[in-house]
Amino acid sequence: AEVTTLLLSRIRDIPDHPEPGVMFKDITPLLADPVAFTALTDALADLVVRHGATKIVGLEARGFILGAPVAVRSGVGFVPVRKAGKLPGATLGQAYDLEYGSAEIEVHAEDLSRDDRVMVIDDVLATGGTAEASVQLIRRAGAEIAGVSVLMELGFLGGRARLEPALEGAPLEAL
Ligand code: IMP
Repeated sequence: AEVTTLLLSRIRDIPDHPEPGVMFKDITPLLADPVAFTALTDALADLVVRHGATKIVGLEARGFILGAPVAVRSGVGFVPVRKAGKLPGATLGQAYDLEYGSAEIEVHAEDLSRDDRVMVIDDVLATGGTAEASVQLIRRAGAEIAGVSVLMELGFLGGRARLEPALEGAPLEAL
């Protein structure tokens, strides 16, 4: 509970970003505070250990910032999921619907194996589309899902309901 209060106090609301009517949750104050950033890293690393994950998949771009120190802390590898066209090697891709239009994410499939249990890490779960596509991508790469862990879930956007069928019982945890 104390950690939650600390983390919440370091998240800044930015109105009308990236467009009018959107209240953006900005985690840069949390990253700039070493006590809060360490507390977040430790809390996420606890989940990695608890769920027996062998790899972390971080979602571009803030999932890289949060996922990398968690991987080092918990002694597992880190695999980036990126927007289409950024990864240099052979990729697997997954398209998903946005409110207007669609997007595509990619992963280097050879960095995941059938023996891997993957924890997906990102800062914010909004509509759940990005996390859902990531879970589908990881399964197609042959790995198992240990869970999805985020700093924050924007409950009013219904992301949990969208993501849950894809999780097939794996946990979604929002700190
Ligand atoms: P979703 O696919 O709608 O769940 O959007 C999630 C993605 O958008 C994540 O990668 C988040 O980093 C980003 N995102 C959406 N809303 C916010 C926000 O308010 N703050 C920070 N990131 C956000």
